[in-house]
Parts: sequence; C-alpha cells; structure tokens
Amino acid sequence: MDVPSNFESIEYGPAPEASGSATDWIGKHRGEFGHFIGGRFIKRKGGPRFESKNPATGKLLAAIAQGSSEDVDEAVACAREAQPSWQGAGGAFRARCLYALARSVQKNSRLLAVLETLDNGKPIREARDIDVPLVARHFYFHAGVAKLLDSEFPGWEAHGVCGQIIPWNFPLLMLAWKVAPALATGNAVVLKPAEYTSLTALLFAELAAEAGLPPGVLNVVTGDGRTGAALAANDCVDKIAFTGSTSVGRSIREATAGSGKALTLELGGKSPFIVFEDADLDSAVEGLVDAIWFNQGQVCCAGSRLLVQEGIAEKFHAKTMRRMGRLRMGDPLDKSIDVGAIVDPIQLKAISDMVESGREEGNSVFQPKIDVSSTGCFYPPTLITGATPSSPLMQEEIFGPVLVGTTFRTPSEAVDLANNTRYGLAASIWTENINLALGIAPKLACGVVWVNSTNLFDAAAGFGGRRESGFGREGGWEGLYPYLKRRRRNVVQAPASLGDRGRAETDSAVSKGIDRTAKQYIGGRQVRPDSGYSLTVWDAQGKIAGQVGLGNRKDIRNAVEAARSAVGWSQSTGHQRSQIIYFIAENLSIRASEFSNRIAELTCRPTADCDAEVAASIDRLFTYGAWADKFDGAVHGVPLRGSVLAMNEPLGVIGAFCSDEHPLIGAISLMAPIIATGNTCVLVPSESAPLSATDLYQVLDTSDVPPGVVNIVTGLKADLVGPLAGHNDVDGIWYFCEAGLIRELESASAGNLKPTWAESESRDWMDENEGEGRDFLRNATQVKNVWIPYGE
Ligand code: ADP
Repeated sequence: MDVPSNFESIEYGPAPEASGSATDWIGKHRGEFGHFIGGRFIKRKGGPRFESKNPATGKLLAAIAQGSSEDVDEAVACAREAQPSWQGAGGAFRARCLYALARSVQKNSRLLAVLETLDNGKPIREARDIDVPLVARHFYFHAGVAKLLDSEFPGWEAHGVCGQIIPWNFPLLMLAWKVAPALATGNAVVLKPAEYTSLTALLFAELAAEAGLPPGVLNVVTGDGRTGAALAANDCVDKIAFTGSTSVGRSIREATAGSGKALTLELGGKSPFIVFEDADLDSAVEGLVDAIWFNQGQVCCAGSRLLVQEGIAEKFHAKTMRRMGRLRMGDPLDKSIDVGAIVDPIQLKAISDMVESGREEGNSVFQPKIDVSSTGCFYPPTLITGATPSSPLMQEEIFGPVLVGTTFRTPSEAVDLANNTRYGLAASIWTENINLALGIAPKLACGVVWVNSTNLFDAAAGFGGRRESGFGREGGWEGLYPYLKRRRRNVVQAPASLGDRGRAETDSAVSKGIDRTAKQYIGGRQVRPDSGYSLTVWDAQGKIAGQVGLGNRKDIRNAVEAARSAVGWSQSTGHQRSQIIYFIAENLSIRASEFSNRIAELTCRPTADCDAEVAASIDRLFTYGAWADKFDGAVHGVPLRGSVLAMNEPLGVIGAFCSDEHPLIGAISLMAPIIATGNTCVLVPSESAPLSATDLYQVLDTSDVPPGVVNIVTGLKADLVGPLAGHNDVDGIWYFCEAGLIRELESASAGNLKPTWAESESRDWMDENEGEGRDFLRNATQVKNVWIPYGE
C-alpha cells in the first residue's frame, strides 16, 4: 500500500490519558466533599449530598455536599471577615498570591485537566490544551492587574464580598474568569460551582490554600440552583457575578433588584457563523468545527447558526458534512478524540428533543455515521438545514453539538439574519475581504467578533454580550470595573420624592396667571401629554411656578419610538457630535440669565449660585463636546499573531432619570455623555424642578440636534420608572434619584436584561470629579472586542 492510501485508511489506536492522579485525589477525600470555607473543607455528618458522575461512563465519581442557606451564610461571613485585610494587604501582596496560584495551576495542570474531563466529559485534548492553560493565563494576567491597580485605578476600591455562580461547561475556566479579577481587585469570594461539575473548583480551592492564599479569601459552597439562589439573596454579599442560562440570569436580576448589589451577567447566545463567498472555505470548515463541536457545542458563544452566502452554500455544506464524518467521538480521556460526552442525561435529552422536533418540522437533519457509546451521554455532531429564521432551532439555544444553517444573498441580509435573535454574545465572520469584514463587525449586535477565526479567548481581552446575553465584561481592563466601585466622598442621601406635593391636577385647575404648560419633547417636537393632564410645579416658596405634562406609559412609548428611529446618530462621527454639543453650549450661554432665573425661582437659591449652575452646565457640555471624538477604544495585547480591537460602542437608546437637586446640570450631566457617545435618549427630568429641562427644548431645537436624539418626558417618576425601565426597546437605564424606586426599576429591567446604573446617594453634580468623566462615558457604552488574526 502506498503512503497516501495509508494516510486514508490508517486506524487510530487507543491513546488514553491516565486518570490515576485524579482518582487518587478523589480517594484521598474518600469520595466525599464538603464545602471549602475559611481555608479548609467543612464536613457535616449526615448533611444532604448529591452524586457527581462521569458523563462518559455514568460511573459515580464523588458525593458532594448540597449547600444550605446556613452554609452560604457561613461562607459569606468568613469572606466578609477576610476581605478588609486582603484588600489592605495591598496590590503587591495580592499580585504575589495570584502569581502563586498561576504557578500552582501550571504545576498541577495534568491533574486539573484529567479531573475536568472526568467530571465534565470534555475531550482531554481541550481540557489540557485550552481550558487549563487559559486558567493559568488568567491568574498571571490578574497578578499583574493587582500590582498595577493602585496606580491605574486611583479612587476605586473593591466591592467587598463577591458571590460568583458559574456553569458546568467550562468549570475551571469560568472559575478563573471570575475569581482572578475579584481577588486582584481586593474582593473576597464565595463561589458556587455548577452541580454537575464541582470537583475542579474544590481542587482549586485546596491548591490555593496550599499556595498561601489567606483563609476566607476564596470559599466554595457546592450545591444546585437553590444554593445559588441563597447566595444571590444573601444580604451581606456586595456583588453577584453570574454565568449561565438567560432564564436563571433573569431570575437573579429580579432577586437582586433594589438590594444595592452590583451585578454582571454572562448569559446564553445563538451566535452567527457567517461565511461569505470569497472566504477560504477549507479554513472556514475547520473554524466551524471549533465553533460548534468544541466542547460538544456546550459553549455560550458557540457558532450555532451557520449563515452561508447562497452561491457557495451547496459546496460549503458538502465540505462540512464530509468533515463531520471524520470527527472522532468517544472516550473523552482518549487524546485523539474530538467530541466527548454531553454533561448529563438531562442535557442529552433536551438536545435530542429539540433536534427531533426540528425533524418533525420538516427540516433536513444530517448526522454522520459514528458509533455512539450506549453507556455514556453522547450525541453526534448534527447539521440541520432548511429552518426558517423564526424556527425555535434558529432562535433557541440548543447547547449541544447541533448546527443550524441557512443562506443569505447580500452582506446586509447577512447582518439582518445575524441580528435576528434576542441574544448578542458573539459572531464569526469569514471572508478574504478585510473591508467587508471590518464593515460588518460594527453592525453586529454582539460583544465579541472573530474575523476568520472563532472561539478565541484571552485574559487581556474582554468577553461578554449585549441584549439577552447579559452585560458586563470579563477579562481585559474593561473586565475590572465590575469588581470595583468609586470611593465616594460627600455621601448624602437623596431627598425623598415629592409625593403629595407633585400631585397631578387637571388643566382646568390651572391657577390663573400661569401662562403655559410645558409639553413633552418627543421626536424634536413639543407634543401634548397623552393623558391630557398636567403636573403643577411649585416654586421654592410654595407658589405655583408653572405646569408640565403628566407623562404616562404612552408618552414613554412614543419617546422610545422616536429615540429608536434616531439611532442613525450612532453612525455620525465623533467630530459631528462634538460640534452639536458645543452648539448646545453656545445657545445655552446666550440664554444663561434666563436659565439662572428659572433655577432661582424653582429652588430659591442665591443668584450667584444659580449663575454658577448655568456656567457649570455650559462647562459640562464643553467637557463632552471634547470627549465626543476622544473616548477611544484600545488594541489589546493578546498572545496571537493579530490584533484585538476593543471598540466602545453606544448602548443604543438610554432612558435616564435625572436627579432632583441641581435641575439643570443634573439633566445636562446625563444627556451630554449619553449623546456624546452616540446614544439617543429619553430623559425624565427632575420631578421637583422640571422647568429647567423643559426650557431646554428651544435650545436643542436651535442647536441642530437631530429629532429624536434627545426626548424629554416630564411626570411622576413613580409612574414612569416601570414603563421606561421595562421597555424592551430601551437598551440601558440610568437613575440618580431616591432609593424607593430602585427595586421596581431594576426588576422591570429584567425583561430584556438591559444594564442599569442606579444610585440613590446624591452626587455633587457641580463637582467635576463626581459629575462628569469616564464613568459616564463607560456606562453609556459597551466594549466590542474584534479579533483580527493576520499574516499569510
Ligand atoms: P445551564 O443551563 O448552563 O445549566 P443554569 O443557569 O441552569 O445554566 O446554571 C448555571 C449556574 O446557576 C449553576 O451553578 C446553577 O446551579 C446555578 N443556578 C441555577 N438556578 C439558580 C437560581 N435560581 N439562582 C442562582 N443560581 C442558580
């Protein structure tokens, strides 16, 4: 037989990785694990347990403690006690600890990889070559972060205790993504691993203690969703970081609403894999293997929707099916296996049910002939074609090795199909035309784009999504902010809402002598409030100062519609936006005394004070005119021949509730950064002194602000919080008012999982350090990381 035919027919021999080190470690613990709290395992005799099994064989691996809320309380108390000295020990000390953790991961890499494969079912090749090296990389990167924290983040501090809830698809890697930045920034952690895969987290905690991590800084409480829910509900936790399904993410958003806990969510996805006709098809097929068959497709950012340009679809599908036939599925510990086991029989059934319903719908289902083990949880690589864009197969996350394909004709159709999902995590674009790739990347509604590549991750580049894929980033500089809060000076509680004083009155009740009622400002026009009612505005002496429209749900709906139809504003250049913001400043300065008098009338403050507020407002507009073309992104230094462009993108439509103090600068301080970064907005001005904002209508009209970019709805916050925060076409919510409505606001935001920025402690809006700057720009944007490998 000649050499080429030998290559074609040669059989793979078995190449098993030895599992002794991992089973020995389980044996050392007698196959039973308690929680890891305060630097040691806590075993409670007779406490509830659940079984952890090897999904490839169905065999029992260990019994794991089911955490109760008392266990969670104990771990949180321990973290709380350890946190101040961990933070106080300083960045250099923490850097050394994190470095020791990275070294320990490397020294124990084989043990960690084998244990991960036994517990999760992923191929050892992936655990060994991808997961574990990335874990070490995260700890190295964040050791450096700890060292640089004080110089790079002056004025910021740790939240305190972070509750971290992670899924089972990358147990150790998700731990690293969460634990490394939390520890680097001086937080203490209570981690809840997924119930299918607790073992590597427990091993990691043990290794961390051996490496010298102080007791209580990292605690692990095992258990199922009930344990996670107890952690999210714990009053002494300052921040929750969650990765998992969108439905659980939503329930955590609701459970934490109004609690003051910071929150980041990394949720599901249905990411497009877009192949243009000029792509290198063989590379794209290999990319597809990594996109959807890596980790059996149990990847939140899996390229699970294949979009192929029509002219090459037949050829590309044929190549894909041929390649699928060569994938090797089987014992995950075998080093030559491509596709391992599905994590649990429940997941296996969910995948199989979805594919069968797709078959019944009449779609074409291709599965290569691969022997499937009858004992373990295996599901063959699958390609489904013919599904309509609205089919559940195209819309729902299958979370398995199932690719659903369709075709497109033009680049704009590809973008429409790609964005036709409620998710927004990642996308992969395949073309040899760099202009096309970089033209498409900004149009995709997602947090990560891979050009001619897929599923690339690194600690230096942020990862995370938009829309129902969650908010917040993990990795990179951008991933540190969620673990920090500003050290606040001048903390004052915001005054309570106006309550009775802000009661509605009918137009007929308007007192004599009041010349006009300010209308709503929607789509660049002044329109009557839908309710036909108005709200009396009282001056500081208790006399009627005027009337404004009493906004309701319908006004909010109209304003959001106007803001949405103006999102072309995001395509304007920073230069154009800065010109318009300077123009607003100029027009405001022409009418400075009128605005000052209005503030004096509403607040009874001394004239000089009111003049100062107008002057500071003009100054603030200049600040954001300056920023509009300078809020640059970054190029991340990842270990790749290529670049990662971190681009700051506007959220879209932002709803903003302005503070009651400083009625003018309070509104300008929100509007200006929102529009400077390319967003459009619906502003709800100060409830007590809205006339300062309604007087702005004419300033905006004369400043070339395109209709719909700024919309202003006056009324009672209590009426408007629910409709605006709950509106599914609003992409972000800012709120700087009294605490009473924050629970409703955050809870309403759970519908489309929009990011919220809600503060009840008043800021000193006149102070440049508190009232303006990068915080505002960052909260108006999300980073999109675009990976561009290069070289022939
Ligand atoms: P997946 O679909 O990936 O299994 P889940 O969202 O169900 O994701 O689980 C991710 C993590 O969230 C797991 O650790 C799980 O135990 C935990 N979890 C499940 N339900 C809840 C809940 N209601 N509150 C908090 N955590 C939960």
